[in-house]
Amino acid sequence: MAKLTGIPASPGIAIGRVFPVDRRRARVPRFHIPPEEVGSEIARLDSAVKESVAQLQQIRQSLGEGEQGDILDAHRMMADDPSLLEGARGLIREELLNAEWAVRRVVRDMSEKLGSDGYLAERRADLDEVGDRIVHNLIGEKPVLVSLPEVEVVIVAYDLPTAEAAVLLASGKVKGLVTDFGSKTSHTAILARALEVPCVVGAGQASEIARPGDVIALDGSTGEVLVSPDADEVQRFEAAGVVAKSREAELLGDRDLPAETADGRRISLFANIEFPEEVPSVLAHGGEGVGLYRTEFLYLNREELPTEEEHFRAYTMILERMQGRPVTIRTLDLGGDKLPIGHRSHEPNPALGLRAIRFTLRHPQLFRTQVRALLRASVHGKLQIMLPMIAAVGELRESKAQIESIWQELLREGKPVAEKIPLGIMLETPAAALAADRLARECDFFSIGTNDLIQYSLAIDRSNRDVAYLYRPLHLGVLRLIQASVDGAKQAGIECAMCGEMAGDPAYALVLLALGLDNLSMNPADIPKVKRVIRSSTLADAKQLLAEATAFSAHDEIERYVLDQMHQRFPQLFTEPSNPGPERTV
Ligand code: PEP
Ligand code: MG
Repeated sequence: MAKLTGIPASPGIAIGRVFPVDRRRARVPRFHIPPEEVGSEIARLDSAVKESVAQLQQIRQSLGEGEQGDILDAHRMMADDPSLLEGARGLIREELLNAEWAVRRVVRDMSEKLGSDGYLAERRADLDEVGDRIVHNLIGEKPVLVSLPEVEVVIVAYDLPTAEAAVLLASGKVKGLVTDFGSKTSHTAILARALEVPCVVGAGQASEIARPGDVIALDGSTGEVLVSPDADEVQRFEAAGVVAKSREAELLGDRDLPAETADGRRISLFANIEFPEEVPSVLAHGGEGVGLYRTEFLYLNREELPTEEEHFRAYTMILERMQGRPVTIRTLDLGGDKLPIGHRSHEPNPALGLRAIRFTLRHPQLFRTQVRALLRASVHGKLQIMLPMIAAVGELRESKAQIESIWQELLREGKPVAEKIPLGIMLETPAAALAADRLARECDFFSIGTNDLIQYSLAIDRSNRDVAYLYRPLHLGVLRLIQASVDGAKQAGIECAMCGEMAGDPAYALVLLALGLDNLSMNPADIPKVKRVIRSSTLADAKQLLAEATAFSAHDEIERYVLDQMHQRFPQLFTEPSNPGPERTV
């Protein structure tokens, strides 16, 4: 038996036979063509591009609605992108490159522009995949694998191209997915979550170790992967799978009940989403609203900025699908390592640089496009607008002035806009939390972004593994900043929400209840557990727990106390999965 640990990317247990999938990189012949062949080489290129677009269209049609379809749309748009075609034609004309070489060069140049870090870097894989498809078509090879499995299997791959992942996962024959490579935010991982297929990425040498037909077991909640497990291990995984499923079904029994304590404190549980297609999952898990839609995902997968119409369509889709429930749309949180095409950062400290609202205010045109779409969409549901990382009152005032002038512009154009759209801000810096009373006078709600608030207050890079051990939500300093935010909101009579990862961890639910949060927003799948904790407790009990915990000084003492208490109170919620997961980090 071999044991590997990867990155948990889509929860659930899967046990099945290995179905290996090789990523076939296209072989690229490179040579110069004689000048008289330029015309025919360009014709060859054009027809390979056409063929690729048609193939992607065909795959897309077979997938139906949902995220898998959208990702394939994005691939088709990349293949159809005039800058790709024109760039390759130019290289054929000017440098007399053969078509395969020209395509590879253009894709490489486009992909370099995406940078090597962050979300956009992951779209390089999409671009490479599209380039590969065109080259495969040029050399007359079949670009896609895909012999679909006939029985249920676990896919094992070095890296799974998104188009192939979409076809395989949508076939209904895939019980689980393990890749050697990849990250949680890769499209393949996103697809697996959307289609609820357990998945572990970054599992090292899984594709070398696992042979076709071997039994493989994976736990998508912990990242554990076992190749050829013995009977006891299989039993352990099976038991964990059964427990997880029945626990989930039992928790979903509370789906339509309020998150209210036995002594009458009612809070709201909302969901965080990155794609409009996640709305069905929000409703299925009992989400009462969307507390954070991260709109920067609209900027991914593409060479050009999204148009006002594209923004408008996405927002309208979410508002309509949420059927009158509140939808909080965060304006773009770009900057640092999340940059749209054509913008490059040379900042030595991107997390402390021109990001979030600072980036937005520096690029009023981007903001205008988005705000116009938001205001226009406001008549299709219950919209709330949220500004990321407001650290100073001046930033809030300037953003409001811009929104107001765009509002007037739309009214002059005769476009309908809702009468009142609540405008909230994210508190993500210690300074904002400490000045919360003043900020609260000038906005309609707060949402605490603990992922960043913890990063900035404890001075640790949230994506740096070396300091992940310091990422402590229950540090007294962090708790006091949360308290200051809530108190500031209360003084001004506005609501205080939390939408960082801390909000979705049931172990922290009583602490957050005691601190006075009005609303917790989290990944849809976390809602049932948090609701169970709230419904099984009283506010008085939560306050006592917080008082006892904060009598300790060290963050590990506080954390140990709270976790012990939560384990004692909710043994069924906190029983260990098949294997204890890695240390809690964002
Ligand atoms: C946060 O910082 O807690 C947050 C929700 O925003 P993001 O994770 O998108 O930075
Ligand atoms: Mg943030």
